[in-house]
Amino acid sequence: MASDSIAAPVTSNIAVRRGEPLVVLDHVDKHFGELHVLKDIELTVNRGEVVVVIGPSGSGKSTLCRAINRLETIDSGTISIDGVQLPEEGAALARLRADVGMVFQQFNLFAHKSVLENVTLAPMRVKRMPRRDAEAKAMELLQRVGVADQARKLPAQLSGGQQQRVAIARSLAMSPKLILMDEPTSALDPEMINEVLDVMVGLAKDGMTMIVVTHEMGFARRAADRVVFMADGAIVEQAPPAEFFDDPRSARAKDFLSKIL
Ligand code: ADP
Ligand code: MG
Repeated sequence: MASDSIAAPVTSNIAVRRGEPLVVLDHVDKHFGELHVLKDIELTVNRGEVVVVIGPSGSGKSTLCRAINRLETIDSGTISIDGVQLPEEGAALARLRADVGMVFQQFNLFAHKSVLENVTLAPMRVKRMPRRDAEAKAMELLQRVGVADQARKLPAQLSGGQQQRVAIARSLAMSPKLILMDEPTSALDPEMINEVLDVMVGLAKDGMTMIVVTHEMGFARRAADRVVFMADGAIVEQAPPAEFFDDPRSARAKDFLSKIL
């Protein structure tokens, strides 16, 4: 199983500073035209913390993730990562983005590049890592997510679950401070979901700071430190998973949970 193949933590230095705020959103607002899609979002994610974001479709979860990586602009408020406010553009933004891994529902691998090239590309281009080092690190990461034997293949030759594990390895290759995952298992056939969730649980156990949008409540219970429940662009409730699932406070959360559990 994937969890058995997970090698030594690549994030072992994280524990030292565990608990300090890493991502801070302060009064973040965003509109798409008339639509108020993020409403006065206040959210702090501490180093080493795993935050699972849940909520109905259209509640702003993806927009929140994209704003943290500045794939979306915000209208007002501030977002900072490791004490640095998100820059508007340019080299400073590129540097900051290099610290934030992103894993999407649609794996978004480069179709015409091998699995290995997918993982080495950013370290070589962005960090100017020599090919030999980038490949050694990539193989280590592919091993860790259980697909080292697929390194020379093209993404299309892999199953969905394998492709998503490559996407996770690719995000890890930049040694990010934070990984954002937006419904990483939603596009997978059911029998492949667990192999990806196992890798995610492994990352969480290793102390990776993670913000994960998911409908996998089993993952939330197993791995989350905190569940953030969004509805209509606002954070309605946040609590540790056991508390949230067993005793949701808001009517919105109760209603949502009654539909999915
Ligand atoms: P979720 O991920 O929770 O399903 P999203 O963040 O994707 O929600 O979307 C929140 C709302 O913003 C939805 O009503 C969606 O239709 C709208 N929206 C998302 N992206 C855009 C966009 N680029 N332009 C206009 N509206 C958008
Ligand atoms: Mg979404």
